[in-house]
Amino acid sequence: MERIKMTTPLVEMDGDEMTRILWQMIKDELILPFVDLKTEYYDLGLENRDRTNDQVTIDSAEATKKYGVAVKCATITPNAARVKEYNLKEMWKSPNGTIRALLDGTVFRAPIIVNGIEPYVKTWKKPITLARHAYGDVYKASEMVIPGAGKAELVYTAEDGTVSRELVHTFKGAGVLQGMHNLDDSIDSFAKSCFQYALDTNQDVWFATKDTISKKYDHRFKDIFEEIYETEFKAAFEEKGLKYFYTLIDDAVARVVKSEGGFIWACKNYDGDVMSDLVATAFGSLAMMTSVLVSPHGYYEYEAAHGTVQRHYYKHLKGEETSTNSMATIFAWSGALRKRGEMDGLTELIRFADVLEKASIQTIESGKMTKDLALITDLKDVTVLNSGDFIREIRAEMESML
Ligand code: NAP
Ligand code: MG
Repeated sequence: MERIKMTTPLVEMDGDEMTRILWQMIKDELILPFVDLKTEYYDLGLENRDRTNDQVTIDSAEATKKYGVAVKCATITPNAARVKEYNLKEMWKSPNGTIRALLDGTVFRAPIIVNGIEPYVKTWKKPITLARHAYGDVYKASEMVIPGAGKAELVYTAEDGTVSRELVHTFKGAGVLQGMHNLDDSIDSFAKSCFQYALDTNQDVWFATKDTISKKYDHRFKDIFEEIYETEFKAAFEEKGLKYFYTLIDDAVARVVKSEGGFIWACKNYDGDVMSDLVATAFGSLAMMTSVLVSPHGYYEYEAAHGTVQRHYYKHLKGEETSTNSMATIFAWSGALRKRGEMDGLTELIRFADVLEKASIQTIESGKMTKDLALITDLKDVTVLNSGDFIREIRAEMESML
């Protein structure tokens, strides 16, 4: 069989532990036999990040700006235990954080829906894509413990020395205090990424804040979204019959639960942190959550939402069998290849991405799955497969489809 040709390389970011093992298996079994794969390879495995003083992470993000599309394997974010385990020179920062900062992007997470793995919320029929604004608010706040009576103020000193003050509270006794901020530029990028991704995926955008209570802070988010929508996206949305819908966050939560899904839910930083875990869990499994970083400049980085599955990796190292679910990582590859195909006008590559996803879903729907899904499925007569056999079953399915 003639392998499908590519014209522009994908930026390939390899990673750590069990997902690194799956990465190689997916390439060998599901991609390379069918696609004349072109990638520019960056090894973001922790050893190589340490060896290059994390330069490799920066280089991989720069390459993403050059080529436009990347696919990333899960990576270890070092903590004290990892510094010891890998004898690191430094506690390197989260690669995802570094890449996100360089691409100025927003992360969109969506579940892979299959028959037999039913969401806990009965009405949900289509995926809900959650977009989290990943800058500022409580994540970059300054805080104080107030020991006793006194006056707390917000003070802003402009560069020309002009001072503005706003009373926060006159304390009569002990308490706590917090000051947080956000940036027009960052909210702007967030809004653009959301609207752009909505156009890419043909979905409505829902956005919610608490602007009735936070009349300046949250209201700013609402205004920026509204302005960007009106000036840059409204025409394209109307042409595609898509909607931008703003409401209050508490109303949004109620509506989401009663909805059938199929839209992008844009959330402020904290709301996104909380709601993404809720949505992921309610859809069934972290191993079925896909994730894509979309920059307002049109760069895309696809990955799985889960981590490196460390516990399974240690079993693998001991020679024990593992049953790790590769779906989200497979969908990172299919998402990246489809986007590459769209950008380069390669219909064969787009079709291949569709076949890969369909074969993966059909494999599960035919009762062949990894242990995590076997534990939650409604299907009868399930065959639990190990990590490698699951991928080989998908390959067999693909071969019969192609
Ligand atoms: P994790 O890798 O997501 O795994 C947590 C648990 O969830 C696993 O032990 C496993 O449960 C289950 N699980 C997750 N993915 C699975 C899959 N594909 N198939 C089957 N089960 C799956 O999170 P972690 O163990 O907290 O983190 C490990 C490392 O990943 C950390 O070093 C962290 O820094 C890194 N991390 C990276 C990213 C990223 O690169 N995007 C994201 C998160 C975490 P059972 O053990 O019960 O089977
Ligand atoms: Mg969280």
